[in-house]
Amino acid sequence: MNKVYNFSAGPSTMPKHVLKRAEKEMLNYNHSGQSVMEMSHRSKIFQEILEDTKSLIRNIMDIPDNYDILFLQGGASSQFAMVPLNLFGKYKSADFILTGQWSTKAYNEAKKYGDANIIASSKDKNFSYIPKVDKEMVNPNADFLFYCMNNTIYGTKFNYIPNSKNIPLVSDISSFILSEPIDVSKFGVLYACAQKNLGPAGLTIVIIRKDLLNHALSITPTMFNYSVHSEHNSLYNTPPCYCIYICKLMLEWIKDEIGSLENMKKINQQKANILYNYIDNSTLFHSYVDKSCRSLMNIPFVTKSKELDDKFIKQATLNNIINIKGHRSIGGMRASIYNAMPIEGVEFLVDFMQKFEKENS
Ligand SMILES: *Cc1c(COP(=O)(O)O)cnc(C)c1O
Repeated sequence: MNKVYNFSAGPSTMPKHVLKRAEKEMLNYNHSGQSVMEMSHRSKIFQEILEDTKSLIRNIMDIPDNYDILFLQGGASSQFAMVPLNLFGKYKSADFILTGQWSTKAYNEAKKYGDANIIASSKDKNFSYIPKVDKEMVNPNADFLFYCMNNTIYGTKFNYIPNSKNIPLVSDISSFILSEPIDVSKFGVLYACAQKNLGPAGLTIVIIRKDLLNHALSITPTMFNYSVHSEHNSLYNTPPCYCIYICKLMLEWIKDEIGSLENMKKINQQKANILYNYIDNSTLFHSYVDKSCRSLMNIPFVTKSKELDDKFIKQATLNNIINIKGHRSIGGMRASIYNAMPIEGVEFLVDFMQKFEKENS
């Protein structure tokens, strides 16, 4: 079997350390005689896994006590509906900052349940930058202000937290969570699907300020009601047990091997710099993302033509660089270098790009 470097935007590469531990514990978790997959979600041993995962997230992300952490299913895409259904209690209105496909989807979903207003957008330049939003732009009668912190497809990230005054701030942090510290106290709701930086697909984490619970619209399906999941400690129904366990291993990896999110950010910055520095000095490869808001996690780039892009993707794949193709909506290439991508992976990619550049210019 070849060693491959997987640059997929999600599901994405996982730390070898985590996979090895999962392998070791696969048949017999902690002397229980069972795999985590086989355990009752109501058993004491699984409850411990759930509680450990919760407290690890709380500690690593420094989440204040007045926030609850929920373990849900349905992916980040279900949150596009869950957020308005649960927060539209007062005005049935929300403000949106559109910076790409995911925030556009969130906006379109919210429109089904009330008013959704776009207060800023970067669509005019194909989402290649992050618009500046100040507090005067925020509607005082909105139930929340929504934005996507890191734009997985376009490769941009917010390098500031919008000031929403007293309006709860909601952010999709699917491709940002655990990559660097976040001041959680500035937010009403943060959510992330797992398959970028938390573990396998199937788990979605919601971090919600407790005073925002219990305001759901009456039409809200029981399974879409944050309060129901909060009251039952994410055990209203069967949670994605095995995904939660892998998420625990991912968190332990950060705690034990990386140390802190400050360290994680340093490493991520270092990895991204290697690739950006090369692209900035290349005569073949080009990034169209505004330099002030470049993502550390997702780095899209192009050559001079679609034909050459296709050739690059093909040759890269033959050289054990997989899933480097850009999102189907924008083409080109994209290197997703989440927490688990080792620095050697980025160096390997840059070496290959250099070689390709020499042969094709
Ligand atoms: C991947 C991603 C999603 C979609 O997640 P699903 O779990 O597939 O629904 C939504 N938002 C962002 C920012 C993402 O990166």
